[in-house]
Amino acid sequence: MHEDIAEVLFTEKQIQERIQELGRQITEDYRGKNVLLLGTLKGAVPFIADLARAIELPLEIDYMAISSYGNSTQSSGIVRIVKDLEGPIDNKHVLIIEDIIDSGLTLAYLVDMLKRRNPLSLRICALLDKERPRAKTVPVDYLGFSIPDKFVVGYGLDYAQYYRNLPYIGILKPSVYGGTEE
Ligand code: 5GP
Repeated sequence: MHEDIAEVLFTEKQIQERIQELGRQITEDYRGKNVLLLGTLKGAVPFIADLARAIELPLEIDYMAISSYGNSTQSSGIVRIVKDLEGPIDNKHVLIIEDIIDSGLTLAYLVDMLKRRNPLSLRICALLDKERPRAKTVPVDYLGFSIPDKFVVGYGLDYAQYYRNLPYIGILKPSVYGGTEE
């Protein structure tokens, strides 16, 4: 285990098994439909790559980059589109693939914006959802795991752009980001 990780929440094997289950469920639900998997950069990249291969349907993949975090561990509430989709979505069933939902602000913003583009349907698949009270709630249709309200890294999730390549998901030691141990 990496020395900056306090605890592994999900091993590579647990993540992959859960993704296979999600892939089977999505395959059933979207049979006969043209799906666009919309991944959010950069955190959802490993997740969308593995999930796409677990879905047995013809599908398209596109990415959006939205920035709501700097180098801190708190949502700033300021959301900015850094990279938009390549084309219109009004003839597509869009499934948003998110890495993690924390305050929910990023996702609420994304959903509002995409709804205005009139997709045939819009659903959300998130790998992780933090158990915490929220001002805004967006219903998640497909969820990998619920997690405690801790800052996690690995499997795409970063701190200051590092740790994305860890194959597991772990809680980052608060000392790494100047926080206090609980
Ligand atoms: P929200 O707007 O829901 O508060 O934040 C969502 C975004 O914040 C995620 O897409 C992710 O980039 C980042 N984020 C939230 N919680 C965590 C966390 O525990 N670890 C990491 N690495 N990023 C997080």
